[in-house]
This record gives sequence, structure tokens and C-alpha cells, in this order.
Amino acid sequence: MSEDIFKQIISHAKEYGYIFQSSEIYDGLSAVYDYGQNGVELKNNIKQYWWKAMVQLNENIVGIDSAIFMHPTTWKASGHVDAFNDPLIDNKDSKKRYRADVLIEDYCGKLEAKIDKEVEKAAKRFGDAFDKAQFVSTNQRVVEYQQKIDETLKRMGKSLEKNDLADVKALIEELEITDPLTGSKNWTEVRQFNLMFGTKLGATTDTSMDLYLRPETAQGIFLNYLNVQKTGRMKIPFGIAQIGKAFRNEIVARQFIFRMREFEQMEMQFFVPPGTELDWFAKWKEIRLNWHKALGLGDENYRYHDHEKLAHYANAATDIEFKFPFGFKELEGIHSRTDFDLSQHQNFSGKKIQYFDNEKNESYVPFVVETSVGLDRLVLAIFSNSLKNETLEDGSERTVLALPPALAPIKAAILPLVKKDGLPEMAEKILNQLKFDFNVMYEEKDSIGKRYRRMDAIGTPFCITVDHDSLNDGAVTLRYRDSMKQERIPVEKLNEIIDREVNMKYLLAKI
Ligand code: ATP
Repeated sequence: MSEDIFKQIISHAKEYGYIFQSSEIYDGLSAVYDYGQNGVELKNNIKQYWWKAMVQLNENIVGIDSAIFMHPTTWKASGHVDAFNDPLIDNKDSKKRYRADVLIEDYCGKLEAKIDKEVEKAAKRFGDAFDKAQFVSTNQRVVEYQQKIDETLKRMGKSLEKNDLADVKALIEELEITDPLTGSKNWTEVRQFNLMFGTKLGATTDTSMDLYLRPETAQGIFLNYLNVQKTGRMKIPFGIAQIGKAFRNEIVARQFIFRMREFEQMEMQFFVPPGTELDWFAKWKEIRLNWHKALGLGDENYRYHDHEKLAHYANAATDIEFKFPFGFKELEGIHSRTDFDLSQHQNFSGKKIQYFDNEKNESYVPFVVETSVGLDRLVLAIFSNSLKNETLEDGSERTVLALPPALAPIKAAILPLVKKDGLPEMAEKILNQLKFDFNVMYEEKDSIGKRYRRMDAIGTPFCITVDHDSLNDGAVTLRYRDSMKQERIPVEKLNEIIDREVNMKYLLAKI
């Protein structure tokens, strides 16, 4: 990645009302961000895209909204008190703290970048005759890089699974990984660090109860499994979906909204008969990837990454990775969670959490396949992929945020050419005609050219310009953000034309 591109993304997000550093006037709070007037619209549209795809389009999936505070035993049962740790390591010279696994993954990321470079060079050399698959499996240098990556990740996965932190440290030393900031190799031992935030419920110290801010929304679904199954008369297989905040005391919180301490997740737990979970896991892997691809950010920007190291509750796990400006990283996790969570809650609560299967004529604890995507990571993926610097035919430059139209915060801006002669009044009438269908805005400040550029930068798919002719012929100029094409359109046709581009149903139909 070029640092400059990432810097541009962050400053563009701020300048156009998408994302602000939290508590900025007090010098900010690290890894906590606020969404501005446009950011919240984008985020709400993404939520809607997810919710409709998961809940509305699936007869057998329903949604809930559970509280952030939960009984503390929840986290004992789920394993988070004992096992929700990240391995951390400090550099003795720089006094900086890092996640040991991230240092090792970044090392592999560098090898991957080297492979990409070799592939790029070879593609140029061989032209049309280039066969990428053959090249990466036969070129000696590439094969060696790939072997090194595979060996490294495998060893790290094994060591972490066995909690062999000394070996993780040994691996960092063997790979000669240095502090990314200073180049120092003077590392401490690797230690485990629990990621949950603690807080207290109640007024007095002796009656208060220690709580955690939930580190994932999933447990709220498990605790409501029986409520939903019974009151909704749900038949297995069925799913429960939820969108909500989660909190993690991340050790290294860099990369803007990629890794935050307070973030939002969109999770769905799918309950299935034991023994069928791996088939459902394969199905959900595919369904979720298709959901991402329908956004049109480029199929080549997604890939699966199957886990070497499985979490304590899983018997299969994969990430859907996206090519962020800093490389391929996890966007969504899909996990086959077995019956671990429900069984644990059954044991810890003493309440029977089972399903009576009429067809099989038996009771069992359902198995679970989870899909869990970070809403903020989606915002970052979509925002960074959409931000483009273009050189136009006349040599001038423009910055355009080519968001998928269904997700754009503002669908159309209505712009009177001048602030007089009855044009603002006509523009306002058009605003009133459109506002019941779409989020639209009125803008009269600055020259029309400047207003177009500003709307391009915000990502508004349409500009509607009202000029003097409009007063006579009842038509306006409709300008398309991406092609910059301009068309004369009768005012009464506007709703239909805009709807065709921005209505979410067309996006949903692509999945
Ligand atoms: P990572 O390995 O990047 O820490 P994870 O594997 O711990 O992520 P999960 O527990 O699987 O993540 O959470 C599901 C999803 O929640 C992730 O795919 C990601 O999109 C999102 N997510 C997790 N942690 C954060 C965070 N600190 N900030 C923003 N999003 C997050």
C-alpha cells in the first residue's frame, strides 16, 4: 500500500462527514471513532442490505436485538474469561506493544507481496500466454516463498493452540522479525492478554456485580435461543440474526476503523441437526461470499482463508478476506461452532437447552454455524474501494467516491443554477417530490461546477440542476456521478429514473 492512499482515505472520510476521531477536541481516544452525517447513512444502508438479505429474504431466519450487558456467567460458560486472549509482545527498546501473531502474519504478508511482484513481472514478460496457476506452482522463487508462508503459519497455529508462547517468541526470533517502527529485535517474552472490558453494575461496592462489555454479539443469540425457538415456533434448521456493538480491548489498534475498541458486528447463528454442520458451513461460506460480491467491488478482491488454528468452540472456520489498501485481511468470519455454546450454557445454567426433532423423534442440542461480519470493516472496504482519483479528458482531476448507489448516503442533490429568478423555489418543489422516496439534499452555495465536484466527493449518484429553461419546459439536467453524462429529463420522470439505480431491491436480486 502506498501510505499516501491510506492517508487520503482517512482525511477524505473526515472532510466529507463520514468518520471522525472520537473526542477529537480532547486529542482523541485511541481506536474509537464516530460516524458523521454521511457515515451514519452509509452504515445504515449497509445494515439494511445485510438485514434484508439475511432476515427478510430467508423464511427461516429471524432477528433480535439483545442487550450489551449480560449476566457475567455468560462469559465463563462461553470460554471468554479463560480463553479470549491475544498473545502480546513488547519491544524493550521502543517500548511499543504488538500482537505476536500479527507480527508473524505481517511477515507472511511481505512474502505474499513478493510473490505478487514476481507474478506481475512474469505477466508482463509472457503477455497473453501467461498462465498464472502454472507460474506460481513451478517458479522456484515463488514456490519457496509460498512454502515459507505455509510453514510459518502452520507452526504459529500449532504453538498458539498448545499455548506454547515460548515457541511463538522463538519463531519471531528465527524469522528475525524487527519492530516495524524502529527495527529493534530486542523483544520481551510473549504473554496472554484478555480482551474483555470490565465494568460494574450497582451502586455500592459490596452489592455491585462485575460485568463485561460483550466482546461479540453471538452470546446474546445463544442466551435467547429457547425464547426465539419457542415463541417463533422455529423449526430446525433456522437462524437468528443480530446487529450490535461489541467491545474489545485490542492491544494494537491501528489501521483506522479496521481494528477498533468499540465496533459493530452483524452476526447470524444458524441452528442445525448434529452431523449436518459441515454441509451448512460450506453453504454459508458460498452464500456470504456471493453477498459481498454483489456489491460490485471486484470479485478479485475477495478470497477465503481457512483457519489453521481453530478457536476452542469450532470444528471448521474460514475468513472471507478483502483486499484492503494494506493488503488482504479478514472481513468476515464463518465458523462451525458445534454444540459448544448451547451445551456450555446448558451446563452452567442448569436449564435444558434442547430441540425436539419431530422427524427424528429425538431431542438434541443443536449445532451452530455462524456468520459474523464487522460492519465497520465493511464500511472501510466499501469506502476505500470506492475512492478514486481520476484524470479527465481535459486534463483536470477529480476525486469521486463511486459508492454502490444503493448504499450512497445521499441519492440526489438538487441544485438551482442561481440563487434567484424562481429557481430555488422550483428546486425546493423537486426536493419535496423526491424526499419521500430518497434521502436527497438541496445545495445552492458555490458555482455549479464546484457543487458537482463536492457531490462526486460525497458519492452522490445524481445531481439535478434547475436552470432558467426548467421554468418553461418543466425539465431539468440530470447528471450521473460515474460517467458525468448529463441528460435533460422531465421533472415527473425523476423518481422512476433514480429508483432504478438506487433501490436496494436490485442489489438484493443480484445475490
Ligand atoms: P481479527 O483476527 O482481525 O482480530 P477476529 O478473528 O478476532 O478478528 P471475529 O471474532 O471472528 O474476529 O469477529 C468477527 C468479525 O468482527 C471480524 O471478521 C471483523 O470483521 C469484526 N471485528 C473483530 N474485531 C474487530 C475490531 N477490533 N474492530 C472492528 N471489527 C472487528
